[in-house]
This record gives sequence, C-alpha cells and structure tokens, in this order.
Amino acid sequence: MKIAVLSRNSELYSTRRLVEAAQERGHQIEVIDPLMCYMNINKTKSGIHYKGEVLEQFDAVIPRVGASITFYGTAVLRQFEMMGVYALNESSAISRARDKLCSLQLLAREGIGLPITGFADKPGDIPDLIEMVGGAPLVIKLLEGTQGIGVVLAETRTAAESVIEAFMGLNANILVQEYIKEANGADIRCFIIGNKIVASMKRQAKAGEFRSNLHRGGTASVVKLSAEEKRTALAAAKTMGLHVAGVDILRSNHGPVVMEVNSSPGLEGIEGATDIDVAGRMIEYLEKHVPLHQARMQQK
Ligand code: ADP
Ligand code: GLU
Repeated sequence: MKIAVLSRNSELYSTRRLVEAAQERGHQIEVIDPLMCYMNINKTKSGIHYKGEVLEQFDAVIPRVGASITFYGTAVLRQFEMMGVYALNESSAISRARDKLCSLQLLAREGIGLPITGFADKPGDIPDLIEMVGGAPLVIKLLEGTQGIGVVLAETRTAAESVIEAFMGLNANILVQEYIKEANGADIRCFIIGNKIVASMKRQAKAGEFRSNLHRGGTASVVKLSAEEKRTALAAAKTMGLHVAGVDILRSNHGPVVMEVNSSPGLEGIEGATDIDVAGRMIEYLEKHVPLHQARMQQK
C-alpha cells in the first residue's frame, strides 16, 4: 500500500513509529504536512497540491492532526477522502470528537456514563449550575484546553463561583463537572482500533495534582479493565464514529465515566507502558480495510 501520514512533524514519536511499522510490513509511507497542502476543489477532478506539485494518489491516509490545526487539517483530510483515499479516521468523526461539549452530548444520548456536566452562558445561572453538578469541589474546564491545561479543581463554592465568573468575563467557553474524587488522581486510557481495545493503561497524577496527564507529570502503568469498562470504552469510540480512538475513563462510585474521546491518541505513553506494538496494529487495520474500501469504490 501507499500510505500518507498527515502530520506536521515527522520527528514525533507517534509519527516515527507509524512510518517504522508500515515499512516493516513492506508498505510505502510518506509524512505529509497538512499545512503545506493546498487544494483544488472541482466537480470533475479534485486534487491536492504539495510544495508546488500535484500530490500523487495514496491508498490510505493516517490523520495525526493536532488540536491547534483541526480546521485546516480536517479540510485537507476531507480532500483525501473526496479523492477516494481510505482514511483511518474520517474528517467528520475527528471534527465531532474535537468539540468536547458536542461529544459529551452524543455520549449521553447513547446512555454512556459521564461525570455530571453543566454548561451555561450567563453569570446569573452560576449558583444553579454549581448545584446541578452537586456543589463543590468541582472541576471547571476550558472547552479549548488540551493536555490538562485549562482544567481547574475548585475546592469550595466561593472559589468555583469566582473562577467561573472570571472565565465567563473573558468570554471563554467552559463546562463545569462533578469532581470524581474517588478516582484518586488516576484515569484509564483505552486505545481502540476498530472494535477492539488493543491496549490500556492507568495514568496516575503526581503527588498533590489531580490531573493524570503524562504532560503534567503523571506516570503510566498496565491496568486490567472490567467488562463494564471495556463496554463503555468501545461504545464511546463507536458513538464518535472513530476507528482509532483513545478513550479516557475515570473509575467513579457510579461506574466508569468517560471524560474524553481522543481522535489522535499518542503512541509513546501507551507503547511504553504496555510494550504492545500499537503502531503495527494500526497498519494491520489498514491492511484489512483498504481492500474492502477499494472494492466498494469500484462498484460505484
Ligand atoms: P485534557 O483534555 O486537557 O487532558 P481532561 O478533561 O482529560 O483534559 O482532564 C485532565 C485530567 O484531569 C484528567 O486526565 C483527569 O485526571 C483529571 N480530571 C478531569 N476531569 C475530572 C473530573 N471530573 N473528576 C476528577 N478528575 C478529573
Ligand atoms: N497528550 C495527552 C497526555 O498528556 C495524551 C497522550 C497520549 O495520548 O498518550 O496524556
């Protein structure tokens, strides 16, 4: 196969591993910077130009589009899809997953466990909003945040009120969430490919911190999932329409709750913690699904 990895940086661990895994299996693979692609949108023949040349045809594309370039990155990915290239995750699913609030609404509709979550616009609604999620302590999240930045634990009602007010004053979109204290600063990352959980790890926050992100100093270890946790993670990925997903779960007193479904889950943490060749599993998924996709295209 000829595979394109849409990634801004070929030095990143995940990008390097995908290139390695594809080459080991005898495929051609190229790293394409989405921001260097420009597009010709045309009713007869849409194309992509790259560094001044027409980009050749690929069989598959692996999107590794960072949150900061979601808009342009998904537009380029959509162009690949229009040209009949099989996308490991589709642009529509990535856009959906990047909207944290929309994701939580879709998951709730499917009956998937979530931390109790509130969303409001008016400062006048703050007292009721705090009540809705069970009072302080509570978690306040900037909708645009990643890697734990913009996630605040407000220990008291007074602190919660002033932080929410401050964010609203800055016109930042925030959501307010029940604090899952019993998770003890740990969360679980389930790495899903197709309808399988291929690897999972527990991330533990460092002492004095409630956020377990590896970027915030958290440490990863192997974890065994309960049947309910597996069901929850798989249902979450399916609801978002993602073939590859990193589903983050907290162990709460009311069962597993999904915090987030990541459409471009990193490989370094999970491969390091579990010793599983996750990149290889992603390429194997393509080996199985690209021929099916191409057969379907032929019939059209
Ligand atoms: P980001 O997308 O920026 O990583 P998350 O929503 O995943 O933000 O939150 C970062 C971390 O904070 C999580 O990994 C988890 O450890 C902790 N956390 C987030 N929400 C809650 C919550 N409602 N209760 C307890 N801990 C939480
Ligand atoms: N960037 C997120 C973190 O800090 C996710 C990393 C990953 O997906 O392994 O934990």
